[in-house]
Amino acid sequence: MTLAPVESNKSPTKVTLGPLQSREVSARFVAKIRVNELTGCWIWRAHVTKFGYGQFSALDVETGEVRTQYAHRVAYEAIHGPVREGLDLDHLCCRRNCANPDHVEPVTRRVNLLRGDTISASRAAQTHCENGHPLAGENLYVNPGSRSRTCRICRAALYRSWVAKNRERRREIDRAFGRARTKRKQNRVEIPV
Ligand SMILES: [Zn+2]
Ligand SMILES: [Zn+2]
Repeated sequence: MTLAPVESNKSPTKVTLGPLQSREVSARFVAKIRVNELTGCWIWRAHVTKFGYGQFSALDVETGEVRTQYAHRVAYEAIHGPVREGLDLDHLCCRRNCANPDHVEPVTRRVNLLRGDTISASRAAQTHCENGHPLAGENLYVNPGSRSRTCRICRAALYRSWVAKNRERRREIDRAFGRARTKRKQNRVEIPV
């Protein structure tokens, strides 16, 4: 994954790709992304707005001011160039916290609204979970209270990791009481094979 800044000959006042012009800032941007191997989404791990969009702040080299911009817009403009005035970037992957420039498409605001770009609509339209498992059939778990749709595979993995974490904690306690363990080991009866 490279975020090479593109040169633009458009009017400098309209150019907003500024943030990723320096190598340091590009590296800082990339560090905030976790790439989902299955969906290709660049999941934003840093600040997200209340509407679910990733946000990135950086110094604008042209104005010398700190600018905050949507993460997906920063990535899109760094790779594809400035978005035309009046156009919105619509998430084709239905994940607003995805910054993959290939997962967004510039559309008119009217098209964006017609596509039903609300949190509930995008969630309901989600056909796969964040890890690419299908949100359908046996794998779909609908919470009876909140009606939220989640993936059974991921729910099970979450449970397993919780168990593993607690197992690790138990091992830590065992290590702290290492002497008692060693003693027990000495008394262990060997079972012939
Ligand atoms: Zn995506
Ligand atoms: Zn899943």
